Parts: sequence; C-alpha cells; structure tokens
Amino acid sequence: MVDAVGNLRMVYPAAKPDAPRLMIGSHLDTVPNGGAYDGVLGVVLPIALLGALNGRKLPFAIEVVGFSEEEGVRFGTPFIGSRALVGSLDEDLLRRQDAQGISIRKAIEDFGLNPAEIARAAMQHNVFSYVEFHIEQGPVLENADRPLGVVEAIAGQSRVECTFVGHANHAGTTPMNLRHDALAAAAEWIGAVEQRALSTSGLVATVGAIQAKPGATNVIAGETRLSLDVRHRHDETRNAAVDYLVQLAEDIATRRGLRVQCNVRMDQRAVPMDPFLVSQVEQAVSKAGCEPYRMVSGAGHDAMILAEKISTAMIFLRTPGGISHDPAESVELGDVTKAIDCGLHLLDQLATSSQFQRKTQHA
Ligand SMILES: [Zn+2]
Repeated sequence: MVDAVGNLRMVYPAAKPDAPRLMIGSHLDTVPNGGAYDGVLGVVLPIALLGALNGRKLPFAIEVVGFSEEEGVRFGTPFIGSRALVGSLDEDLLRRQDAQGISIRKAIEDFGLNPAEIARAAMQHNVFSYVEFHIEQGPVLENADRPLGVVEAIAGQSRVECTFVGHANHAGTTPMNLRHDALAAAAEWIGAVEQRALSTSGLVATVGAIQAKPGATNVIAGETRLSLDVRHRHDETRNAAVDYLVQLAEDIATRRGLRVQCNVRMDQRAVPMDPFLVSQVEQAVSKAGCEPYRMVSGAGHDAMILAEKISTAMIFLRTPGGISHDPAESVELGDVTKAIDCGLHLLDQLATSSQFQRKTQHA
C-alpha cells in the first residue's frame, strides 16, 4: 500500500498472527542526474530476501518500506517519508515550499494523497527494529577490499557559514602590507580546516562553497563568504573542531585587520546504531563468507530517523570507484548476492535469538 506521505509499504506475515514486526527498507527518490542504486537497492533487496525465504514464515513479520522522499532535493528538507513513520512530520515541515512555491502539503495532495491521514502513516507499536541496506557511496570498502560494511554509527554533522569582511581595493596600487584581503584570509582558513581534519582521526571537514566580492581580477576581495561542513561519529570531537575553527577564523581576521562572522546553520547529533543488531549483522556478514568491516556512515540515511524510536542497523555494499549521485554509480552483482545471503542469515539469527525475542516482547 501507499501511505499518506507516499511511502510504499508491504507486510510479509509472521508464522502466527499478532507477531512483532521487523522493518527493512530504504528510499525510492534520488538526486538530479543520480545513479540507479542509491536508495532503490535497499528497497529491492528486502523483496529479494522475502523471495529467498520461499514462503517460510518467521516468528516476526517483515514490513518492507520504500521511503518517498529522503534526499530533500525538491523542498530542501530531507527524510520526509521516514519522518512520517516516527511522527515528526509536523505542520511546519508541511508548509515548506519548493522553488515553484508549492508546499509539501500541496505536493502530497496533488499526488492524490490526503495529508490529514499522515498520522496514520506512523509505524505500528509492534515494529521493534529497522534494518537498511544501502550502497556505501564512498571508497572505504573498496579500499579495504570488503564487499559489505557494518555501520556502527551515522556521523553527526555541523554546517557553518562564515563571512570574512575586509576592504576591496585596487590590485595594482595597494601595497601588500596595507591590504585587508578577505579572500587571502579565507584561503588561510581553508588550509587550516583541512589540516585540522587531517590531524583528527575520523574527522572530515569541507569548505565546499566560496563566494568572493566583488570578484574581479584586478580588485582585492572585500568580502568572502564560505561554507563549512564538519562530520564525526563523536559529537564532542565534532563540536571541538567547530569551536576551534570558528575561533581560528576570528584570530586570522584580527591579525589581518578584518572582521568575521560565523553562523551555525546545522548541528545534527551523531546517531549510534543498536549494538546488539550491529553484532548480529557482523555475524551474518561472516556467515555470508565475508570478513566484516565496521565503519561510520558519513552520509545521513533514513535509519538515522528511525533510530529515534527503534533499534536500528545498516549494512553497506561496496561502491565501485566510490562513485555515487552520478549515473556511473554501480554495484557488483556478487556483492548483492552476498548482501542477500547476509540478510537471510540475519533473519535466521534473529528468529532463533532469545535475546532478540525478549527485545521484541518489549516493543
Ligand atoms: Zn540514499
């Protein structure tokens, strides 16, 4: 069935009625000029898993979900589909508009769905865990020569916007010692951002956008606006890096006779995966004949949203060339076979685990 926010959902029944339910899924949407596997693979794969069960029933039901809108391309707001499941798709979000001024609410109506029924899209109380298969979208597994990755946590994320303000002036007549060059200050800072990330284990920090004004060959830049994106699995490490880099921007500005303004635009906590499920996935990966590789997801996923409510795990598939969000995105057929095998082992392990049975009774 299609729920009120456009998620595709189906249930494979358990051996007995009123059984608890395991949810497996990923998202159906993609990005402009994207690839064929980001998201969709994690929807098709559990369907193949159900096929491989060959009609065999487990002590729990399996709900497969294809989330409607994860990337946030159209409305600038990601995870719309999964937010409906945890009950955090509120009026504020529904009012957000796309570039044409169409709100999420209107888009849902135009698709033929009823936003008044969104509350009914919330997952049922008998859903106890969520598992997501997803391509890694990075080069780590390929580098480590492992087909499957066991996600331990989804990295927290900070986004900061910094603006250096100096003085625009003539590039020919202003001596070097009398300049207040906003672009040179920004360049010094960008180098320091990279150094901080290189010297902190697991930290990634990126200045991805820069805009210099007035932006002419023969004019010293008077103003430079930069974006900063910082991610780490531990919030303390991420926050310490952001604090350090903001202070450093101020130090650089002061030394060069400039001003700087830094505004935090996003501060998203890291989301750990459930330790019990992580160890179960690790075992399942081994049984599928692969050496497990524990890793952190640098990208956000629906699992992050579901983890607010239920125990959650993610399994990554190696991404050839680390290429994603591009038509060249691909997977190895053999890796998909191993992922299905791993999924079957996981289902069998959970079906026979007494610890898991106890967990589901508390769901
Ligand atoms: Zn994705």
